[in-house]
Formats: sequence, C-alpha cells, structure tokens
Amino acid sequence: MTPSTAFEVGALRAQFPILGTSVHGKPLVYLDNAATTQKPRVVIDALVDYYATSNANVHRGVHYLSGRASDQFDQARATIARFLGAASPSEIIFTRNATESINLVAQAWGRATVSAGDEIVISAIEHHSNIVPWQLLCEATGATLRVIPMSDAGELDLDAARRLMGPRTRMLAVTALSNALGTVTPLADLVAMARSVGACVLVDGSQAAYHMPIDVQALDCDFFVMTGHKVYGPTGIGVLYGRAALLEVMPPWQGGGDMIASVTFERSTWNVLPYKFEAGTPDISAAIVLGVAVGFLTGVGLDRVQAHESALLAYGTEALQQVPGLRLIGTAAHKASILSFVIDGIHPHDIGTIVDLSGVAIRTGHHCAQPVMDRLGIPGTARASLAMYNTREDIDALVAALHHARKVLL
Ligand SMILES: *Cc1c(COP(=O)(O)O)cnc(C)c1O
Repeated sequence: MTPSTAFEVGALRAQFPILGTSVHGKPLVYLDNAATTQKPRVVIDALVDYYATSNANVHRGVHYLSGRASDQFDQARATIARFLGAASPSEIIFTRNATESINLVAQAWGRATVSAGDEIVISAIEHHSNIVPWQLLCEATGATLRVIPMSDAGELDLDAARRLMGPRTRMLAVTALSNALGTVTPLADLVAMARSVGACVLVDGSQAAYHMPIDVQALDCDFFVMTGHKVYGPTGIGVLYGRAALLEVMPPWQGGGDMIASVTFERSTWNVLPYKFEAGTPDISAAIVLGVAVGFLTGVGLDRVQAHESALLAYGTEALQQVPGLRLIGTAAHKASILSFVIDGIHPHDIGTIVDLSGVAIRTGHHCAQPVMDRLGIPGTARASLAMYNTREDIDALVAALHHARKVLL
C-alpha cells in the first residue's frame, strides 16, 4: 500500500447498501464473510442491468442481443483469467460454485487418470467440498485418500506431507486458506513436493481469492477453484482454472448442449476449451456479474485489502483475548481473516444466537470442516470472519456482545 492512497474503509462501506441496514434494531455488524460476502452497488446494479438491457442466450444467436450477451460473457471470462493470472481465458471454466469445480476435476480428471492403488493427498484442514469428491473418486477407483496432519495450532505438518507423497500420489488437493481456522498453507512447499513425485495439484482458493492476490502460474498449480459469492459476486457461479494441456486431454464431465462439436447417434465429438466443460445454458448473468465483482475487487486492490484485513486480524486477535474464558481456535503463525473461538461454559450456538440480538452476525458450528473439530475434540466454534469493509468498530461491537453473552449465559 502506498502512503498516498490510504485505504478509505468509510467510502468503501458506503458502496455496500446492506451495511447501512439494521437487524433487531441494531446497526448490522457483518462478520460472516467466510460464508458469503456482501455485494457492492456496482454488482447489484450489474445484475439488474443485464436483465434490463442484454438478456439473451449466448453462443447461438445471430441476433443483436445474443451477440451483446456473448460479448459480455466472453469479457467476464477474460477478466477472471487476468484476475487469476491464467495464460488464457480458455483455461477458465464457469461452474456453479467451488464445490462443483472440485467435483468436475475429481470426476473428469480422476476417472481418466486414477486407478486402484493410486493415492490422493489432501490435508486435515480441508472444507468438506475438498474431501468428499475425492472420497467418491477413491470409492469408484480403488484409490486411497491420504491426509496431511495438522498441529494443535492448525498448521500442516510438512515433514509428514513429504512422507505421504510418493510414486503412487496422483493428486495433491489442498486449500490455500482454511475457512475454519484461518491457516494460510505453505503452498510453495507443498506444490514443490507434489511436483517432485509427478503429482497434479489442485488448490482450493475459495477463501484465498478475496483475501490475497492470486497468480496461478506463479503458484504452479494445475487446477485452482473459486466461488463467486465469496469474491463479492453472485451465488450460483464458480470458476475452475485448469492448465490447458490437462484440460485438453480430460474427457468431458457432463454431456449436453454447447459442449459438443458434432452429434450423431453413433458418436459425438467435443467442443474446444473451455466449452467442452460447460454443458447446457450457463448462468449467464452471474458469470457477467462475477466479472464486474472481480473488476471491483481488483480496483480496490487485493494487496491493500490484504494489508487492511491483516491489521484488523491482529487487532481482533488481541481484543478477543480480553474476553474471559475465550480461547482462539486456529493460531497458526501465518493466518488470514478468520477468528474462530470457543468460550468456557457456553455452547458456540448460544454465543451466535445472543450476539445476533446485538446485530452482530457470526457463524457457529463445524464450518464444513468436521474433521478439524474432531481433531481438536470440540463440537464446533464461533467464527468471526473479515472482509474488506470491516472495521475496528465491528470488532469492538463483537467484543461488547460477547461480554454481554457471558453475562446472560453464565
Ligand atoms: C466456501 C468454501 C468452499 C465451498 O464453496 P461453495 O460456494 O459452497 O462451493 C470450499 N472451500 C472453502 C475453503 C470454502 O471456504
């Protein structure tokens, strides 16, 4: 961040209409960003604008509107390719969400590549979306799922990772940032390990993509997934980045319209990238609006967002520890954006319910990471998660609500 361009959080907040609303008669304090982020006015307007001015199906029509919708759709793909540092827009495949992106790889890449005796390596801190698709693949093929263990702090054990990876490893699928603990994983080390045994790498960037700059070529991953609704975009749209050389040789996942070059009853042939993996009419409006959201995020600047959020994380870490009986869950040396915690004698759900009455939105439970909770021997946590528009006042409101919750519940 250059000193001349201070991060103007007040001006930024003004662009998010929902942040000016109240819940239970209290100003909304939104700290559930790891579940989904709120949307800026440009994103909301773009959605309405698309249906008011451009709605038509893409790729098929010769008429004006179809051309206009197709142009906007192509532009969105190009914007997202630049955002992720992809070599070409044809490496960007639109899906429904990060979960579908991972399932696409596990099925289309997995069934063509993985056989009995092979191994898929994931980590102990994965979201269920980066566990279950690989379990399904292992069940179908006879491959084995291996898991890089975590420490009590939520850090991955790199020595164990090195021992786990070998000649049978076909895929390393790992998150860049844990949604339950805030751990930032050492991707460079992990990717190097996978490369040294000839394995492919999928990075779950669902959290990372709105907290830190991403460059898939510098990361040297084969696949990278993200989900629209967390990068300030709409629900119903996700992205799979895949290295072109791999996507080219992968069979299609779903069959139908748009993904074919030709169809006869005897045999069909496949369309070029990225269309080979986009069967049926896509969520055109969501894809276009995702391009707008990513443009917005780029305009604010992910390096600036990262600096702002990391200062706020440090402030929140300090402030929460002043609450009696509170224990932070996830204390990795390299963390981002997530404050997961438990309070002695109070169930996480009760914490969430009471602070909601003060207008403070946090999430409670296992955060789609049940193995993390099992490993730590807790039923779940309360989790405050940060985004670009959060402030110290938000943290202060959370802390005040937690003091109140202790008074009410203990
Ligand atoms: C949210 C999230 C997902 C799943 O995103 P969907 O939009 O539900 O597909 C996967 N991994 C991580 C780390 C997440 O935070």
